[in-house]
Amino acid sequence: MATSVLAPALQKEDLNPFQIAMHQFDLAAEKLGLDPGLREILRRPHRWLTVTLPIKMDDGTIKVFEGYRVQHNCARGPCKGGIRYHPNVTLDEVKALATWMTWKCATVNIPFGGAKGGIICDPKALSKGELERLTRRYAFEIAAVIGPDRDIPAPDVYTDSQIMAWIMDTYSMSLGSNSPAIVTGKPVFLGGSLGRNEATARGCLFVIKAAAAVKGLKLRGAAAAVQGFGNAGSIAADLLFHEGVSIVAVSDSHGGIRNLQGIDIPVLLDYKRKTGSVVNFPGTTPIDTEEVLSQPVDILIPAALENQITIHNALKVKASIVAEAANGPTTPGADAILREKGIMVLPDILANAGGVTVSYFEWVQDLQELFWDEDDVNRRLERVMVKAFEDVYRMATIYEVDMRTGAYILAIERVATAMKVRGIWP
Ligand code: GLU
Repeated sequence: MATSVLAPALQKEDLNPFQIAMHQFDLAAEKLGLDPGLREILRRPHRWLTVTLPIKMDDGTIKVFEGYRVQHNCARGPCKGGIRYHPNVTLDEVKALATWMTWKCATVNIPFGGAKGGIICDPKALSKGELERLTRRYAFEIAAVIGPDRDIPAPDVYTDSQIMAWIMDTYSMSLGSNSPAIVTGKPVFLGGSLGRNEATARGCLFVIKAAAAVKGLKLRGAAAAVQGFGNAGSIAADLLFHEGVSIVAVSDSHGGIRNLQGIDIPVLLDYKRKTGSVVNFPGTTPIDTEEVLSQPVDILIPAALENQITIHNALKVKASIVAEAANGPTTPGADAILREKGIMVLPDILANAGGVTVSYFEWVQDLQELFWDEDDVNRRLERVMVKAFEDVYRMATIYEVDMRTGAYILAIERVATAMKVRGIWP
C-alpha cells in the first residue's frame, strides 16, 4: 500500500492526481478485502489515447496541441466523463479524473463506467474559430473510441455546451446521421436536458442538505465560502444564497473576495458576467484564493481544481462540512487532518455527481427521443443524490471510515460485482 494517510502531517505530499486516486482506491480496497486480481485491474485505466492536434491559427501559422481520452472501466456500462481544456492538463491528471468518474457513476448507481478527456491549451487565449477547429479535430481523432454506447463525453473545466455542440456535429457529420447521444451537456435545443447546466451545483446542494441534517446544522443563517466561481461554484453559491445561507467569501482564478456580513450573490453573478471576475466586487475586501479555505464558515465548497486543501492549510479549515464540488480538491494528507478535526468531507465522487447524473438523464432522453420538464429532472436528481448520500453514510458507519472511503467502498463493491459476474474475456 502507498504511504499511510495517518503519517505525520508535516511530510511532503505527493500531488500527482493519479497517485492520489490510487492511494484513495488502495485504502478502500484494503478495508473491503478486494480480490488481488480485481485490484490489479482497477488500479489502471482500461485504455488511454493520446492525440496530436495540428490547428491552423487565425494568423496563418500552425500550432500543434496534445489531447487525451482515457477510459478507466466499462464494467457497469459505457464510459462517461467530461473533457477539460486547461494549460496544466497532463495524462496523469486525465487518468485520475477518468478513474474518479468510474467511482462517481457507481456511487450514484447510474449505468456508466468512467472516462475523461483533456487538451493542453489555454482556451482563453484562443479565438472562437481556433477553439472550434481544435474541438472538431479532437472530436475526429477520438471518434475511434467514443460512441453513444461506448464512451460519452461532456463538459468539464473550461468547456461548455457550444463545445459539446461542435463535438456532436463533427461526430454526426462523419457518421452521416444525427447522433445527439454522443455527448451530454449540449444546448437544450439540440437534445440537451433541462437542468443539466445547474445539475452539479444542485446535486451538491442536495447532499449538503442531507449532511446538514446529520450534523444538526440549520442551513438558513449558516455561513459558507466557495472557492472557484465557474459552472459548479457560482451556481452552488447562488442556490445556497437562496436557501438563506450567508456566502462570506468566494474566489475565481483571478483572486478572492470577502464580506463576513454576506455577499449578494445574484448581484455578484451579474458583476462577474460584466467584468469577467469576482475581484473588486464593491463592498468586499480582497483576499487570496487560498484564504477562502480558512474562513469562519459552516460549509466550505472547493469548486476549483485539484490539490487545494493540503497538509499546509487543512488545519486552518473551520467549516464543519466540506462539499467537494471540484474533482480531487483534497489531498490524502489533508483528508486525515480534516477527519481528526471531525469535519465531514462530502467527497467529489458524491458531492459533484449531480452533473453526471443529469448527463445520464440527458442520454436517456436522447435515446428515447422523449424530453422531460425541468421539475421532473430535478425531482429525479434529488432522489438519486439523497439515496447516494444515505448509501455512502451507511458504508462509512459500517466500516467506521470517513465519507470518502465509504463512497469508495460502495463504488468499488458495485464495480467489482459487475466485473465478477461478467468474467474476464476471453
Ligand atoms: N465533468 C463532470 C464531472 O466531472 C461531468 C461529467 C459528465 O457529465 O459526463 O463529473
